[in-house]
Amino acid sequence: MGCMIGIDLGTTNCCMAVLREGVPTVIPGRQGHRTMPSVVAFADEGPEMVGLIAQRQAVTNPHRTIYGVKRLIGRKFDDEALQRFQAMVPYDVVAADNGDAWVQTRDDKYSPQEVSALLLREIKHCAEEFLGEPVTEAIVTVPAYFNDNQRQATKDAGKIAGLDIRHIINEPTAAALGYSTERGTDQCLAVFDLGGGTFDITLLRATDGVFEVLASNGDTFLGGNDFDQCLFEHLAKTFQDEHGHDLRDDPVAVQRLKEAAEAAKQELSTTETTAVNLPFLAAGTSGPLHLKIDALRRETLEELAAPLLSRLEAPCRRALDDAGISVGDLDQVLLVGGMTRMPAVQRKVEELFGEITARDSNPDEIVATGAAYQSGIMSGQLQDVVLLDVTPHSLGVKVKDDRMSVVIERNTTIPTSENKLFATTRPGQDYVDIEVYQGEHADADRNTYLGRFTLEDLPAKAAGKVTVLVTFMLDADGVLHVTAKETETGNNASVRIEPSSGLSQEKVGELVLYHAS
Ligand code: AMP
Repeated sequence: MGCMIGIDLGTTNCCMAVLREGVPTVIPGRQGHRTMPSVVAFADEGPEMVGLIAQRQAVTNPHRTIYGVKRLIGRKFDDEALQRFQAMVPYDVVAADNGDAWVQTRDDKYSPQEVSALLLREIKHCAEEFLGEPVTEAIVTVPAYFNDNQRQATKDAGKIAGLDIRHIINEPTAAALGYSTERGTDQCLAVFDLGGGTFDITLLRATDGVFEVLASNGDTFLGGNDFDQCLFEHLAKTFQDEHGHDLRDDPVAVQRLKEAAEAAKQELSTTETTAVNLPFLAAGTSGPLHLKIDALRRETLEELAAPLLSRLEAPCRRALDDAGISVGDLDQVLLVGGMTRMPAVQRKVEELFGEITARDSNPDEIVATGAAYQSGIMSGQLQDVVLLDVTPHSLGVKVKDDRMSVVIERNTTIPTSENKLFATTRPGQDYVDIEVYQGEHADADRNTYLGRFTLEDLPAKAAGKVTVLVTFMLDADGVLHVTAKETETGNNASVRIEPSSGLSQEKVGELVLYHAS
């Protein structure tokens, strides 16, 4: 049997850690850095490039350099947020046969699961080199606000990479586990996690080694990429105003502007002004055109980002409401994710939660460290620590008038199971069709459609005479399992599930073989 590691598979960067004799160690990537860019690139021919080398060649190969794929995983192509995402990246996002969002590069379409698998495979390789033994199992973290489709797809990515994902743990929960296990204190914590692509807020209580999540909320389409985009638009407009030349159609210029925008954003976290100098961005009638801004001010970034900063408020308020606690009950606010280094984000946290921010942890590593602790819990290395997480979304079925009938309420502790009784409505009806949704809206169609299942082989009787007890089981990974029993005979009704998205298990099997060869 191989070793188990903890992986933070971030939108922008990945980090991995292992627990040895109860102590977490961050595993370096190929170039020795403690995080690895979540970037995969395809050249004209030859193997894919992963991590830093993929990131370094992005300017010269923008169409085939894939980043931010975590924002696509488990999503539909016609998702409104996804259309905005397409406008932000130079590579093509296309619809797969089942409507899922995939990536088109070279002459092929790739599922986000495959691209994530390439990252995971590289992580597995680096960990094996570092540890000197096979790595076959992993704890992988996901945003707390990920839905069932996104979790399932993450598990498939692991399978394709040859890693058995033993447990999926929510990123903020992992951060709290990492933070509190190291300090061994009982406290009520808010974990404020703003990374490259997603925002999560989780409230939890740690008492005597029991970590109980009280509530989770967030936005899976709000992160550092959006802040970069604001600054990118500003730089492109500045250039256009000066030279009358729109750079947005030139992929190489776009990539250079994006990198400059992100670098300026990061720099403005520590300085009040920064310079942006990009020579030879385009060719004008009288020679090359350059972008030269001597003093880009922090204030300008904050003004541009004000709408994004406001979007952080509602999830925090909802989480406090759901947890039934007030700001005064919190002992610490733990900042996670690179974006929490931005002073305006820190001010927003203080505005929402007061001045109780824990600053003594590394926001880039704390999630992977927590995942490593979780691997210790699972392997028995770490005892007397229990994790009680919650499901952030309600789970239900579509009923009369397309309403959502909730079966499992949001913020229920997982694993959990709940029953619901269904009856036939027509004489002789020998099956029942049930559509499953995840979300909080009273109209089922405004929530995320997870799939449909059919209960088959029911006894043919008068309408309403056959009832079936359906059980929804949410496992500790937050993934749904459905079983059903015909109530009169106690016979198990067969359940045929047609997921709304994702790869079939046959396809995953094919990809495992393909990537192993
Ligand atoms: P993560 O997903 O946690 O790795 O966060 C990555 C995001 O944090 C990216 O959007 C980075 O640009 C951003 N980031 C990293 N360092 C800083 C910084 N010093 N100031 C502002 N943003 C940062």
